[in-house]
Amino acid sequence: GGGNGPVLKIAIQKSGRLFDDSIKLLKDCGIDIKTGVNKLKADADNFPMEVFFLRDDDIPQYVQDKVADIGIVGENVLYEKDLPLTIVQKLGFSKCRLSVAVPKGEQYTGAPSLEGKVIATSYPVLVKKFLDKNNVDAQIHEISGSVEIAPGIGLSHAIVDLVSSGSTLFMNGLVETEVILKSEAALVRNEELSPEKLEILEKFLFRINAVRKAKN
Ligand code: ATP
Ligand code: ZN
Repeated sequence: GGGNGPVLKIAIQKSGRLFDDSIKLLKDCGIDIKTGVNKLKADADNFPMEVFFLRDDDIPQYVQDKVADIGIVGENVLYEKDLPLTIVQKLGFSKCRLSVAVPKGEQYTGAPSLEGKVIATSYPVLVKKFLDKNNVDAQIHEISGSVEIAPGIGLSHAIVDLVSSGSTLFMNGLVETEVILKSEAALVRNEELSPEKLEILEKFLFRINAVRKAKN
């Protein structure tokens, strides 16, 4: 913000599990932005940065399309989108795992236990890769939310979903049986940034590292 020089455009989640820590990271880096309800974007007051507030699922594509130069997104979403984006820095928050879970009492001895089964998930790309890697043939049933209720209503035999504490699984009579991916928030960038934007990114990264060192 401020003058007419180049600004680095960063995409962050507009609300949800990544939002608070993304805002906190900017703040800890000394970057002041005004957040507000229904705001689509905001200029930083004291750093050449413009912030876009988006759904997390849209962030990789926006960075790929250069609508934003960089973005903060969970590795789970990044890898599901399968775009040629580089992780510049893992950020250490919004940690979770993408795991297979089955109803309590069901036998699971590894991926082959899923042969011929129906798996409900919001991550069809990552599940397909996991199945292919293990030479397992199973049916993927894509649903966008409340995946954990699928076995209980007879929609699937198993699920692959994000887990942090495991309490949601427990409440739905499910047991986590295998971790497919460990995930945390990551800073991603477009491959082709101008030298001016790269210089701003370097400054931002320098501050991120200073903040993270101060915490350890
Ligand atoms: P949006 O409205 O932006 O699409 P969303 O509902 O898809 O939001 P959130 O639930 O806010 O997404 O989660 C955002 C990210 O936070 C996830 O993609 C994941 O990287 C991370 N995360 C951390 N812990 C969890 C958890 N227990 N369940 C789901 N996501 C988690
Ligand atoms: Zn989302």
